Amino acid sequence: MTDKDHYAVFGSPIEHSKSPRIHQFFAEQTQQSLEYRAVLVPAEQFEVAVKEFFAKGGRGLNCTVPLKELAWMYANKKTERAELSKAVNTLALQDDGSILGDNTDGIGLVTDLKKNNAVQLKDKRILILGAGGASRGIVGPIQDELPESITIANRTVEKARNLVAEFAHKGPIVASAYEDLAGLSFDLIINATSASLTDDLPPLAANILKDQGCCYDLAYANKPTIFVRWAREQGALKSLDGLGMLVEQAAEAFYLWRGVRPASAELIQLLEAERIS
Ligand code: NDP
Repeated sequence: MTDKDHYAVFGSPIEHSKSPRIHQFFAEQTQQSLEYRAVLVPAEQFEVAVKEFFAKGGRGLNCTVPLKELAWMYANKKTERAELSKAVNTLALQDDGSILGDNTDGIGLVTDLKKNNAVQLKDKRILILGAGGASRGIVGPIQDELPESITIANRTVEKARNLVAEFAHKGPIVASAYEDLAGLSFDLIINATSASLTDDLPPLAANILKDQGCCYDLAYANKPTIFVRWAREQGALKSLDGLGMLVEQAAEAFYLWRGVRPASAELIQLLEAERIS
């Protein structure tokens, strides 16, 4: 390795990852000397690859699909939000040689909603679709914003129930099947399913979005996702996708690693402009 500090994102697939570009942008902006690479690491090679990375002087890692649960198990210490989410997207080498695990996905989403898009969460009725890894990462930080209630709807209801049981001590939260949402309405609907990736839409009842309500799809693409298009059809005040969350979770990881908080607005603008053109 060179004399620069080394960072990387591990995952599979990884070739389309925007993380190297995001972290290089932050490094230049904050005048930090570092290198950040994307490395294809399937689950079965995770442990060996992480050990080798840190043994060779690596300072920090991001872990994405399908490695977040493995990263959670690997970390010697975890932040409170990572502990609760059972998923880690950021590993950081500590001064004593131990590896700290954090989950910056949830705070990334909350920052993108509140700071970048002026969508408030306090006292709101929030519906989260999906009960997979991404849901686990966002529920705790959303609860910290003191919404009136959170409903988790999932195709496999049992998974939503399990998730709710783990987070119920932090604030009002219930599990639901999609068909039981009929008649209910919400201020904010967050799509944390992977349905958009296959151009699929979770089955949502009519009138489920309140007047002036907002929608957020964790997935992002160069074109509006099917959920963003659906949200527009419902007359949502804001119909957002997960590009801002991607940049904000990276900013939080960068801060954990370098102790310097990068500014994200310029980069989000740049990435937005690229997908419009
Ligand atoms: P998981 O595989 O862990 O979970 C997938 C979830 O989606 C499950 O709840 C599953 O339901 C549900 N689901 C899948 N297909 C459908 C469908 N056709 N209809 C209804 N529900 C469906 O994925 P993750 O939680 O890791 O990721 C979810 C999304 O979040 C992805 O799009 C990912 O790209 C995005 N993401 C974005 C981030 C960002 O920074 N913007 C960060 C992290 C994730 P069931 O349990 O019944 O199978």
